[in-house]
Amino acid sequence: MSHATQSQNWLARATLVVAATMAVGCSSSAVGTGAASRPAPERTRSSTLTAALPCCLEAGREVAERYRATGITRRRFTHDELWATLDPIVAAPSLRVAEIGRSIQGRSIKAATFGSGPTRVLLWSQMHGDESTATMSLADLLGWFADPAGAQREMRDQISRQLTVVMVPMLNPDGAELFQRQNAVGVDVNRDAASLATPEGRALKALRDSLRPQFGFNLHDQNARTLAGNGGKQAAIALLAPALNAQRTFEGARINARLVAAGMAAVLDREIPGRVARYDDSFNPRAFGDLMQTWGTSTVLVESGAMPGDPEKQRLRALNVVALVSALDAIATGRYASTSPAAYDALPMNARQAMDVIIVGASVVMPGHADPFRVDLSLNYDEPVARLHPRVREVGDLRGVVALDTISAAGLFLHPQPSMLTEQGGYYWLRIDAPAAFTLRRGADARSEVVRSFPAESRGRRER
Ligand SMILES: [Zn+2]
Repeated sequence: MSHATQSQNWLARATLVVAATMAVGCSSSAVGTGAASRPAPERTRSSTLTAALPCCLEAGREVAERYRATGITRRRFTHDELWATLDPIVAAPSLRVAEIGRSIQGRSIKAATFGSGPTRVLLWSQMHGDESTATMSLADLLGWFADPAGAQREMRDQISRQLTVVMVPMLNPDGAELFQRQNAVGVDVNRDAASLATPEGRALKALRDSLRPQFGFNLHDQNARTLAGNGGKQAAIALLAPALNAQRTFEGARINARLVAAGMAAVLDREIPGRVARYDDSFNPRAFGDLMQTWGTSTVLVESGAMPGDPEKQRLRALNVVALVSALDAIATGRYASTSPAAYDALPMNARQAMDVIIVGASVVMPGHADPFRVDLSLNYDEPVARLHPRVREVGDLRGVVALDTISAAGLFLHPQPSMLTEQGGYYWLRIDAPAAFTLRRGADARSEVVRSFPAESRGRRER
């Protein structure tokens, strides 16, 4: 209980209004009964209107653009860099900041609070240190909250009146320092929700216990090679209303989580059709999202994947802002309660991981071999988000292999650059894991016409 005291102190400073205006049993009484029995906050929007047009697309775009925290423009940043950007923002009178704990290496884990409404919403990002997309989005949202006279004022004020929004941007600052998933002793904080062996996990749990949020947003990044459904596009964002039991029934807090997720799915599908997926809902009794749900907080998992041409995930950052603005508005207005779960249920599942690139039907020209040999090649990038530094993964008949990019090389001759080859005693190998760089030419002759170079910028580029 030692950590609870600290949080209660924080709570007293940050959300003291809540106790006065909210019946203590409200969030827990909603568990097991779902949306129907929960008194919805005052409505200000027509639900028939929102059914046709997903709310808040324009508003979300404006917030994302206008309040983009310009101190952070790349997806790798440290705790110091984050708070150098956030400190001037959270100094606004409309925001309160409190330390909720310290990481293993002593970095301050802080929560920023906006609004004093009866419905409490907890958002936390970067519990995995290398999953920073939503941290940038939270910084942008804080910029919006800090500006009482700015964009989308009505919506912002409604959120302020109806909600108490608590954000923990960067729960795992030690992991962020090395841009690694785990914390400083190698623990995956998202597998620590039950045992609470880490100070990071304890800080989040204590915050949850003192705040008792009705809604939660668990903000992550997922593998860039995940597809939105088998044969689908690269998944930009996957959503999940995590299960609260092994049977994966929709009951308790999960009911409203699914409705909120459905609203987010609808608005995202407008922005990035075919790129929104549903995350696997197997129950994990060690993970925070799942346990938050069992603890009575309607929790939505948001997993940012990757998109073409978005090496620093800045487009994904804005998409998270759009989705979160929409979700916060849906909760503040009560609109979520009349949302159909269909948009969530209809999402394609996260599908098996794709290769980054497949080259189909090339005739490979190898030094020392008289005849080219006809094979397919698959490649993966060392940096799949930025699509940099490709390496050879497989060579041979790769029928059925799924890739994000397919290069048809039928009838063409693949001339490997020296970096792609291993030489020993005068013989040459196409080595698995070698840096991939080649030209596709019309003929086996090294001087024949070049159809394509790969990577596109490979000639004259420094290889690593
Ligand atoms: Zn994660």
